[in-house]
Amino acid sequence: MNKPLFSFEFFPPQTPEGTEKLAAARKQLAVLHPDFFSVTFGAGGSTRERTLEVVQQIKAEGFEVAPHLSCIGSTRDNVRSILQTYQQLGIKRIVALRGDLPSGMATTGEFQYANELVSFIRAQTGEHFHIEVAAYPEVHPQARSARDDLVNFKRKAAAGADDSYFHFVDECRKIGVTLPIVPGIMPIVKFTQLARFSDMCGAEIPRWIRRTLEGYGDDSESVQAFGLDVVTQLCEKLLAGGAPGLHFYTLNQSGPALEIWKRLGI
Ligand SMILES: Cc1cc2nc3c(=O)[nH]c(=O)nc-3n(C[C@H](O)[C@H](O)[C@H](O)COP(=O)(O)OP(=O)(O)OC[C@H]3O[C@@H](n4cnc5c(N)ncnc54)[C@H](O)[C@@H]3O)c2cc1C
Repeated sequence: MNKPLFSFEFFPPQTPEGTEKLAAARKQLAVLHPDFFSVTFGAGGSTRERTLEVVQQIKAEGFEVAPHLSCIGSTRDNVRSILQTYQQLGIKRIVALRGDLPSGMATTGEFQYANELVSFIRAQTGEHFHIEVAAYPEVHPQARSARDDLVNFKRKAAAGADDSYFHFVDECRKIGVTLPIVPGIMPIVKFTQLARFSDMCGAEIPRWIRRTLEGYGDDSESVQAFGLDVVTQLCEKLLAGGAPGLHFYTLNQSGPALEIWKRLGI
């Protein structure tokens, strides 16, 4: 088996305190030698400068970094200039997304779906970038049907979670998608945060986990202890079942990811 691929995702902070916190988290996670760090990008270019800043910092620290790039609300010129900047910086990996239109933004811009962005990146930059895309084993909330979502994912792949994760991988293989599919891992720190993420991306919180977390109420120590157990077991199951790696949504905190890593004995 190939060596699993591990990565940590950050968002660009908005305040000097946030910047300091992220620098500390990065330092702590760097000792684990992940394959890359990724940095999110606000749809419509709302974090363009801040994303670039964090990308440059990570690069200067000597790590591989994958900027996210979402296309909704953007023009081709805009995306072209971002790609040029990343090429000049020697960035080789990019996470290509559609993004969600910020509220109040009326126009979708010149791209409607992520597959159009992937094609555009390939047309502009050839094979320079290794392109990662998003997938939704529990179906993207706006998809007409699960089948439609799968076909849309195949289109995106062609342009350049436990059981639901394995089912999704099986379905992808059946329709000829051979790309490695790395599951995204959200450590459980706060129930409200987890519920918000789940609503946004359409991944369900299993009923028994939801009920247990609700039962802990404000007892954050118990929430976190339970969260670490559940998420570590999930990661073990994913790796044992053949997942090619893990991508951690760190929310700029190193603690939970470090603890899960330690427990996994990686
Ligand atoms: C790992 C990860 C990281 C993320 N990082 C960011 C980030 O940094 N910034 C950000 O803004 N968002 C980010 N997101 C969120 C993402 O942008 C949203 O989930 C968004 O709603 C969908 O993006 P997508 O790239 O999957 O879109 P798409 O692949 O375009 O899919 C969106 C919807 O349209 C449908 N669809 C796709 N193609 C077609 C087509 N050609 N015709 C008709 N229907 C189609 C799909 O079935 C789906 O329902 C991230 C998501 C993940 C999983």
